[in-house]
Amino acid sequence: MAGRLIHILPEQVASQIAAGEVVERPASAVKELVENSLDAGARRIDIAIQHGGCARLAVSDDGCGMSPEDAVVSLRRHATSKINSAADLTAIRTLGFRGEALASTASVSRMTLRTRRPADAAGIEITATAGDIEDTCACAIAPGTQIEIRDLFFNTPARLKFLKTVPTEQSAVAAAIQRLALMNYQVAFSLSADGRSLFDLPRAASSLERVRQILGAKLAAQMLTFEAVRNAIRVHGLATMSHESFATPRLVFTFVNGRSVRDKLLTRAVAQAYQSLLPRGRHPAIVLAVELRHEDVDVNVHPMKTEVRFRNSGAVFETAYRALRDRLSDQTVEGARGPSAQVMGPALQSPILAPASGEPVHAAAASQSQTHRSTGLRLIPDAPVVAATQRPLGLGFARSDDSPALAPTSVPTYSGLRVLGQLFAGYIALESDEGMLLVDQHAAHERVTFEKLRAQLRDGGIQIQTMLTPLTIELNPARAAQVQAAIPHLRAMGFEVEAFGATALLLKGSPAVFGAEGGARLLSDMIESLGESGWRISGQSALEELLKQLACHGSVRVGRALEIGEIHGLLAELDRTEFKTNCPHGRPVHIQFSRGQIERMFRR
Ligand code: ADP
Ligand code: MG
Repeated sequence: MAGRLIHILPEQVASQIAAGEVVERPASAVKELVENSLDAGARRIDIAIQHGGCARLAVSDDGCGMSPEDAVVSLRRHATSKINSAADLTAIRTLGFRGEALASTASVSRMTLRTRRPADAAGIEITATAGDIEDTCACAIAPGTQIEIRDLFFNTPARLKFLKTVPTEQSAVAAAIQRLALMNYQVAFSLSADGRSLFDLPRAASSLERVRQILGAKLAAQMLTFEAVRNAIRVHGLATMSHESFATPRLVFTFVNGRSVRDKLLTRAVAQAYQSLLPRGRHPAIVLAVELRHEDVDVNVHPMKTEVRFRNSGAVFETAYRALRDRLSDQTVEGARGPSAQVMGPALQSPILAPASGEPVHAAAASQSQTHRSTGLRLIPDAPVVAATQRPLGLGFARSDDSPALAPTSVPTYSGLRVLGQLFAGYIALESDEGMLLVDQHAAHERVTFEKLRAQLRDGGIQIQTMLTPLTIELNPARAAQVQAAIPHLRAMGFEVEAFGATALLLKGSPAVFGAEGGARLLSDMIESLGESGWRISGQSALEELLKQLACHGSVRVGRALEIGEIHGLLAELDRTEFKTNCPHGRPVHIQFSRGQIERMFRR
């Protein structure tokens, strides 16, 4: 028997293995190539695909290009111009840094690379099959780089089998470009598939304009800008308000230092910020950008670089959550606020991201693009707001069910409006300068009560009103055991109860916000909602869920006629309440008919 079983794999095999991690499908190859173009300081990037990118994908840019020598080396593994030493890994300022992408992609395809630096008289063309260079020759091209990949995975049949249908691969390519385009608004992008243009995004003047190009002017106009800076972490972006929601999180975009990431922490911060503002299972459209010092985030933790690790994840979560939550509690659109310094503008040097020593990161690219590309969304006072002439990308997202015409566009001061009366014993009709508002009395009262309960919970516990004479509540014997088990939760909600024999409870006090009467009915309602399995709750947010139910049961119903005094009281309380435009379950508190809409209906 031979003495050695272990040997070093040939470079080509090693590249194919690496490709398995880096290049999963055409969209990941496109992502890597476009990231290279961005790192090269490109101002315009054109992408063409055939057959979802499986037959052919080509990316061409007007970036810094490569010398013929560099171009040849660039196809080798661990060939990079972006870092020099392991120390550089602690502060990565480019999208690429591992020198893997070109080698990996080349090893599983037929590649043609053409590149030329602006100062060179001619460019070089390199053709490679499965990573082996077959030919190099001089060529005439415009300054920049063009990379064409044909027959992706032709030599890795196992990979080929995992490719999905052409439309699926194609939309993954479009989505990958869309994510990169959102952060790099100063760069023009186009995508064509099988010779048809899918989109053509001109260079935008601001991130907001890019959001308009991608999500459409109508949705963008419904979005709020938000920003917070804490502990050298800056979080900013655009987000839809509570009346807009989507069935999937497809329009939730999160970025860290200009890199699109799928980060659980940030997704959770978004979900929690919208909790009680959106119906369960619905998602906002949001572009959320986090910027922090490069040394405070490790980007070298995932093969496709779509995950990161924060040094202080608690602070990142808190800043993101607060930035959004504070903004959502005051849902006023920019138009109503006047010119806002929060509108995101073109890249300026960020105080958080400014490199400590100011040395160029990627020498070739730095000479061409003045602003560092990874800085992403920037703050400028009074960003120019350019009307969107572009048709939104055909990425087809389902709009929420509300008719947008009826959606609230700004937060009114309800108590300042003229009360016209009550409609169907359920809705309060109000007149504002802009039109007519209908307030859902139950949703309004529910929000008011819920916020009161929540505030009490924060300040040490739900306030209890003690009854003069305790009440005995008989329990359904079949459910009695469950109810007894839920006594601690009932107490946490403000019911002063104790077991009274095996099948009864003694009620001595109830949540004070609902007044002295009705405690017993409210308790019965909550017991009713226990269901078969009881409440499986733990932790603060679960208790909040119960408080939502409590607020719902304890609030005025649709169907109850209100006195004018009660109406004024309710509106005044509503105005003092956070998140007043939605009930705790996320339904709107009011809808609005603008004067224009009413006049149009009368064909005036
Ligand atoms: P990385 O991006 O991690 O450095 P890649 O394999 O993606 O590794 O690219 C290798 C090198 O090739 C890059 O560091 C860069 O110098 C050069 N390169 C790749 N694509 C381009 C491009 N479009 N324009 C200019 N240079 C490029
Ligand atoms: Mg790269």
